[in-house]
Amino acid sequence: MSVADHVDLEQFMAGVEKRNPGETEFIQAVREVSEDVFEYIADKEQYHHHQILRRIAEPDRIVSFRVCWEDDNGNIRVQRGYRVQNNNAIGPYKGGLRFHPSVTQSILKFLAFEQTFKNSLTGLPMGGGKGGSNFNPKGKSDNEIMRFCQSFMTELYRHVGEDTDVPAGDIGVGAREIGYMFGQYKRITNRFTGVLTGKGLEYGGSLVRTEATGYGAVYFLQNMLETKGESISGKSAVISGSGNVATHAAEKIHQLGGKVLTVSDSKGYLHDPAGMDQEKIDWIKRQKGVVRGSLAEYTDVFAGSSWNPGKTPWEVACDLALPCATQNEMDKTGAELLVGNGCIAVSEGANMPVNLEGVKVFKTAGILYAPGKASNAGGVAVSGLEMSQNSGRISWSEDQLQEHLKTIMKDIHDTCVEYGAGRLPNGECDYVKGANIAGFVKVANAMLAFGVV
Ligand code: NDP
Repeated sequence: MSVADHVDLEQFMAGVEKRNPGETEFIQAVREVSEDVFEYIADKEQYHHHQILRRIAEPDRIVSFRVCWEDDNGNIRVQRGYRVQNNNAIGPYKGGLRFHPSVTQSILKFLAFEQTFKNSLTGLPMGGGKGGSNFNPKGKSDNEIMRFCQSFMTELYRHVGEDTDVPAGDIGVGAREIGYMFGQYKRITNRFTGVLTGKGLEYGGSLVRTEATGYGAVYFLQNMLETKGESISGKSAVISGSGNVATHAAEKIHQLGGKVLTVSDSKGYLHDPAGMDQEKIDWIKRQKGVVRGSLAEYTDVFAGSSWNPGKTPWEVACDLALPCATQNEMDKTGAELLVGNGCIAVSEGANMPVNLEGVKVFKTAGILYAPGKASNAGGVAVSGLEMSQNSGRISWSEDQLQEHLKTIMKDIHDTCVEYGAGRLPNGECDYVKGANIAGFVKVANAMLAFGVV
């Protein structure tokens, strides 16, 4: 059989759509990767013959389970839990857990698929997985969160393990939730192992893990700007989100001399033309993470700022943009506003925050644009380092880990350039293509080595 005898991209996507009805986010993610991978494998018969992409786009396993818990009023509540184990060709499944009412199987399948390529790009031995629940942690008491996490882990523990599958945090899952889940895992199994990452420092967590995704997205941005002889210093940035990734991205932009103009949440965005310094960023971290109050109150504390309900920050003129909230938070209109206002670089902190039409706008304009699977890989990279420290029963210093993070982000950047240089219509680097192809090659070659399994 020759390459020409195999299915083309549209036939392949028709099959994906047929096998995954209604799973729009998953289909979107597979299309985005497949367009680039099909071009790359056009003359490579072995990848076609072994159906490598078809196999990566079919999760190894999906576990779905009932999670019962009792709220503070004695009501019995029922949620759905999932773990999608997408691919473990290059290492144990690895990827976060998301607790959010919007969680569906489609969203977790897209995230696990993306994670497979992202983890491959880090250069560390980690496969791709993702999980979570439609549980909404907002407004719940600490005891309710604890009971939910314990119930969730009472099923999940059968499917995870330090050499099998190592979950971490994501939207709605931070240090508190990881602590409750780790405690339950330990209680059920009577084993103290590195089964989760993002743990507290007292019980096997790694320094720099909390900051790693946001800082990493800014390091990637810096690497892209350096290819043009530019830097972050003196540039203005709009950031969406106000959670873990967004606040640490804001912190690093500020540290490197940039001016952070916005953060946002699901209710609107905050605009501070004077820029957000460390004091302001600390206020946001506390307001969202500890007080769990409204972002709008910022305007009462810091004069000159405005709260813009129901809107996204892309309308604010800036040099740099970091979407750090959630998937599909920016469409064609948002991307056109950014480009029209002179934005020169976009680095994704969130996973798939820009939809396919938005990405086309950036590619056509030829601006620097980094997809999340490359630019937000710093979090999972430090999770990989947490796994190494747990296996070796050692802890590395903050300086060592900061250096590791910077080096890994630079390596990911350079790998994207290796596969994406000159591939945009205007001759610039196509970081999306670079990330998709480089992420694919490593996983694909491992799969070829294993034969048909
Ligand atoms: P958090 O839960 O800490 O914060 C999420 C933020 O996004 C909140 O500000 C939330 O606002 C906002 N948000 C959620 N849904 C929407 C929406 N529909 N519209 C607008 N804003 C919304 O999550 P993280 O910061 O950890 O994660 C953010 C993104 O980064 C996700 O895409 C995640 O997958 C990705 N990511 C995270 C990593 C990590 O290490 N944590 C690693 C790699 C990627 P509100 O408070 O109103 O809900």
